[in-house]
Amino acid sequence: MKIDLHTHSTFSDGTLEVSDLVEKAQALGITHLALCDHDSTGGLEIAAAEAKRRNMTLIPAIEINTRETRSVIHILGYFIEAEEPSFQQLLIEHRRLRLERASATVDKLKRMGFRISMDDFDLSCMKSAIGRPHIADKLKEKGVVFSRKEAFDKFLAKGKSAYVEYLGPTPEVAIAAIRKAKGVPVLAHPGYFVSPEEIRALKDLGLEGIEVYYPTHSNSQVREFLELSARIELVTTGGSDYHGPNSGHEGLGEVNVPEEVYDNLGQRRAKLFGSTPS
Ligand code: AMP
Ligand code: FE
Ligand code: FE
Ligand code: ZN
Repeated sequence: MKIDLHTHSTFSDGTLEVSDLVEKAQALGITHLALCDHDSTGGLEIAAAEAKRRNMTLIPAIEINTRETRSVIHILGYFIEAEEPSFQQLLIEHRRLRLERASATVDKLKRMGFRISMDDFDLSCMKSAIGRPHIADKLKEKGVVFSRKEAFDKFLAKGKSAYVEYLGPTPEVAIAAIRKAKGVPVLAHPGYFVSPEEIRALKDLGLEGIEVYYPTHSNSQVREFLELSARIELVTTGGSDYHGPNSGHEGLGEVNVPEEVYDNLGQRRAKLFGSTPS
């Protein structure tokens, strides 16, 4: 068993099509894969079919970025029933907010003198979520930067010249939406400045787990998150946050996720909502 519970496809800011992602995961020996596109479940059906064909286990998932505060709070949802109507309604609203934000960002870049416009983007797939990485890719295509990272460092990161605030949902709303879809809400990459106090507060809002195993977490952070999760009865998860070639997040399967993680996550799902979808 080889597990990666955090990946993205072209339905959000990943650079690989879903089927290519699943194929690559299999080539790397991954047996249990979660697709966690930002604010979109558009890739899950294809992913499930592709995984089945390859005898792999696909965990239907989502990642919801909450409105920005000092800490970066992204909530993953595992084993979601994607078609739940109020959940879909919320995701549609988030994708609309993302589009507005992208448009405001592009306006800023235009005013800075760059020849960029919303017409540069393929917005035909209503199921996919636009984000800053797409704008970064466009700046790269136009020769303004060499990488997504450079675009963030120069223009798109919080505090930089083309930054626009994201008025996404609060953590409370994101967690409730995931639970409504019978998903297990898990805090993504807590190493990005989320304090133990905040994690406890999120637990009071219905959080069920934290992503302990993550590429940028140090051994001492892993230990610290393991202790905290044991103390307050959160499940632990892990994944690479793979976004595909040229994304800056490229280590598919390179995080060691213990086998019991998958079983414990499934058991938590069963405890909360009855059976685990197969
Ligand atoms: P957004 O969802 O539009 O707020 O953009 C956040 C996404 O940008 C994250 O999910 C990452 O995929 C990506 N990202 C954030 N910082 C960087 C960076 N320095 N280099 C490359 N990608 C980044
Ligand atoms: Fe992303
Ligand atoms: Fe994230
Ligand atoms: Zn992610």
